[in-house]
Amino acid sequence: MKANALNFSGGPGALPESVLEQTRQAIEELPETGLSVLGMSHRSDWFRAILQEAENNLRALLGLSDDFAVTFLQGGSSLQFAMIPMNFATAVHARPEYVTSGYWSAKATAEAARVTACREAWNGRAGGFRQLPDLRALDIDRTAAYLHYVSNETVEGLQFPLFDEPPAVPLIADMSSDFLSRPLNPDAYSMIYAHAQKNLGPAGVTVAIIKRELLERVPDGLPVILDLRTHVEHGSNYNTPPVFAIYVLTLITRWLRDEIGGLAAMQAINARKATRLYQTLDALEGAVSLHADRPWRSQMNVAFGFGDPRLDAAFLAAAHERDMSGLEGHRSLGGLRASLYNAVSEQAVERLSEALTDFARHR
Ligand code: PMP
Repeated sequence: MKANALNFSGGPGALPESVLEQTRQAIEELPETGLSVLGMSHRSDWFRAILQEAENNLRALLGLSDDFAVTFLQGGSSLQFAMIPMNFATAVHARPEYVTSGYWSAKATAEAARVTACREAWNGRAGGFRQLPDLRALDIDRTAAYLHYVSNETVEGLQFPLFDEPPAVPLIADMSSDFLSRPLNPDAYSMIYAHAQKNLGPAGVTVAIIKRELLERVPDGLPVILDLRTHVEHGSNYNTPPVFAIYVLTLITRWLRDEIGGLAAMQAINARKATRLYQTLDALEGAVSLHADRPWRSQMNVAFGFGDPRLDAAFLAAAHERDMSGLEGHRSLGGLRASLYNAVSEQAVERLSEALTDFARHR
């Protein structure tokens, strides 16, 4: 298998080979325009059509009603950590509630606290960020502006089950590392956002899906670029958007629809991949330890280790010999991490499982 197909990076990560092939061609020359995608104007009819298609494809994949606006933003998910409280923590609501369940949600909570007074509905630090709470059982203020959580903790490899019923307060989810990995009920959410560099394409674009009624709360007087209404009202073309990233995102949505067959099919593939890897790791119990406690194991990111940095380094070297990359743990946690994003194939996970078993046997 090619090295691209064996990329287990936490992000930016693997992209499907057919998308890479179309991207190569588009950098050379887009068949529709005769120009390189890198030189396409954001005001061209071609790009307007791409923006529309990206939105339509996301709407179709997720089953989004017109109650939601779909917009493409810059600044990554980190900018949303600041923009969300700026836009939605209003004077007429109680403090927004934040769930701190890992590295990324801790960043979201800390950033929100710089913007507005927040309340921490839950914090898992004392337990080493190995567990998640039941969101429905949290003791939250029913008049809170919103409840924010990170649906999949990329670093620790913890994943919440999906929320199905509309909660008592508007629910805002950072889905950066599990967006489009499974179907969901959009009506349970008031806002979903996800940056591209995992399941959606290259870095540079962040998708935000926002209930229109939530947008009515945005206070006047924000800097125009930080007001979410600006991007919705200008059809994600207020200032120069990342044309290339949005183009590749569109190719990914076509791949999900045409080659994978939609999100239910994607979920089934992802479940088989995760099962295969966790079975391998469980069989190596004693030699390998997993970071996440079992009920919250993520299907996207698996944080684990051999319990000794020298062994982890030796495994990385062995994996490298087999053309595998991206298996280093996040710098905040150390150890190893395998990210099984949508574009990582079942064959790639099979190779990784074999490499782990061989390594554990011969160490
Ligand atoms: N949220 C999650 C869940 C993430 O995994 C990351 C980065 N990997 C971020 C937020 C930060 O995203 P960005 O680098 O796009 O600001």
